[in-house]
Amino acid sequence: MKFVLASNNKKKIAEMKRILCELEPDAEILSLSDIGFDGEIVEDGDSFEANAVIKASVPASLGYIGIADDSGLCVDALGGAPGIYSARYSGNDHTPDRDEKNNDKLLYELRDVPDGERGAHYACAIACVFPKEYGIENIVAVGECHGVILRERHGDGGFGYDPLFYRVEEGCTFGELSPEQKDAVSHRGEALRRFAEKIKPILEKIK
Ligand code: IMP
Repeated sequence: MKFVLASNNKKKIAEMKRILCELEPDAEILSLSDIGFDGEIVEDGDSFEANAVIKASVPASLGYIGIADDSGLCVDALGGAPGIYSARYSGNDHTPDRDEKNNDKLLYELRDVPDGERGAHYACAIACVFPKEYGIENIVAVGECHGVILRERHGDGGFGYDPLFYRVEEGCTFGELSPEQKDAVSHRGEALRRFAEKIKPILEKIK
C-alpha cells in the first residue's frame, strides 16, 4: 500500500516513517517530491486537525492516499501559544536555524515565568485523506504529551523545541531521549498509534 506523507520536515518524516512502518510493515511511504509536487501548501486552518487535513488533501487530490501531521507546542503561561504557529514562531523565513530562533524566542517570552508555571504540552493531529473515488471519509487522530519548558537547552536529539521540553517521567528533555524513547511517549507516537487503530480496518477492506 502506497502512502504519501505531506511534509517537508525531514526529521518529522523520519519519525512518522519509523512509527508507520512498525505499525504497517507493507507500507510504502513516498514524499511530496517523490510524486512531483513542489508547491507551497497554505496551512490556514484554525486547529491542528484542520491543518493536517489541508496538508493530506494535496496528495489525495493527485490520486494518492495522503497522510499528514500538524503539530506544535502549547505553553500554559502563553495562553497556548505558539500552538498552530509553532513552526513560524520567530518569523516566516525558512532558514536552517529556524528551530534555534524559535527556541530563543520561547526562552525570552518565558524569562519572567517562575519554575512552577512553565508547563506545556505538545499536540499532534494525524490525518489521512483518500482520493475521492475511494469514497472513504477522512481519518483524524490526535495525541498529546505534557512537560515543562526549561531555562536552557539540554541535548541535541529530536528537533524543534525538544532541547527545552523536559519530561518529569523520563527525568530529561526530549532532546536527550533516543528516537525510540521519544516515539514511545511523544504526542506523534500517541497520535500515530491511535491513527493505526482507526485505519487498520479500512486498509483491510481496500487491500
Ligand atoms: P508543522 O510542520 O506545521 O506541523 O509545525 C510543527 C512545528 O511544531 C515544528 O516546526 C516544531 O517547531 C514544533 N514541533 C512539533 N512537533 C515537535 C516535536 O516532536 N519536537 C519538537 N518540536 C515539535
